[in-house]
Amino acid sequence: MSDDAAPLSVDTAVYKTLLESTQAIPWRIDWETMCFSYIGPQIERLLGWSQGSWIGIDDWVERMHPEDRERVVGFCVAQSKAGVDHEADYRALKADGSYVWIRDVVHVVRKDDGEVEALIGFMFDISERKKNEEKLLRLQRELEELSYQDGLTGVANRRLLDSILESEWASARRSGQPLSFIMLDIDCFKQYNDHYGHLAGDDCLRRVAHSLGSSIVRPRDLLARFGGEEFALVLPETDLEAACQVAERCRAALSDEAIPHRASDVSHLVTVSMGVATAYPAEGGIPASLIEQADRRLYRAKQSGRDRIVAE
Ligand code: GH3
Ligand code: MG
Ligand code: MG
Repeated sequence: MSDDAAPLSVDTAVYKTLLESTQAIPWRIDWETMCFSYIGPQIERLLGWSQGSWIGIDDWVERMHPEDRERVVGFCVAQSKAGVDHEADYRALKADGSYVWIRDVVHVVRKDDGEVEALIGFMFDISERKKNEEKLLRLQRELEELSYQDGLTGVANRRLLDSILESEWASARRSGQPLSFIMLDIDCFKQYNDHYGHLAGDDCLRRVAHSLGSSIVRPRDLLARFGGEEFALVLPETDLEAACQVAERCRAALSDEAIPHRASDVSHLVTVSMGVATAYPAEGGIPASLIEQADRRLYRAKQSGRDRIVAE
């Protein structure tokens, strides 16, 4: 060994030791042959495939999740051809058949004439980070759902009702279809609470919501808790006659539920009063006027004895 060569070999050994003792896995692919000229031995600990089994780029492609392959290979090849450093996340196949999330950070090495000579890079195990990201996404979706749900009954809350009514109104304005709205209020509910207690009152609200929910057959129809002991139904593409049929179905379902109410002035069971209204948004108006009309009819249902439907 010459005096000149000695420092170089020390450096090489040092670099090699450093590279092979990191968590990240170094690799190099020769551009002309598309073969690995180097891959760190740590690869075996991470994926289970031996260092010597990484021959060409095909080994890399084949050991990638099929759903990630097209996106990642297409992106990396295009970036490499353009001579741009890049990184890609994908699921790498382990020898035991499971997958690990990898981030590959790639540097493009060029010759003096500008031609691409090799790709060198590091693979990082990012499965822990991905797991956290997925958990966060799941939590976010749950939160979104909760913020549109009434906490007591599980049906849509006022916020979702307002937003659906707004969008159904716009849709009906374009299509020329009718839009119906039912406002529904439990009769003598104050007496129910007074007689059975507030917790039983809560339970009654849940049962009413459940039986109303079971009366809805079309997927676009929406049942929401309007507030207190009031519920609302938004019925797209439904005229007044059809909306009255839905209201009748709700009454029948509640009657089947047969919730006792010994303190009611109108029946020995829990009953509801309903106001039904229909609008043709293409002819003008605003959603609030539809709610008001249904509310006025509900008021008349109460005035004229409760336990009934008013639709005119
Ligand atoms: P009406 O037949 O005219 O509708 O009479 P009502 O007693 O049902 O109506 P009122 O508006 O006088 O009383 C409504 C009651 O609903 C009073 C309130 O305590 C009760 N209430 C509102 N929200 C809840 C709730 O979340 N849980 C329970 N248990 N009771 C509630
Ligand atoms: Mg009320
Ligand atoms: Mg009431």
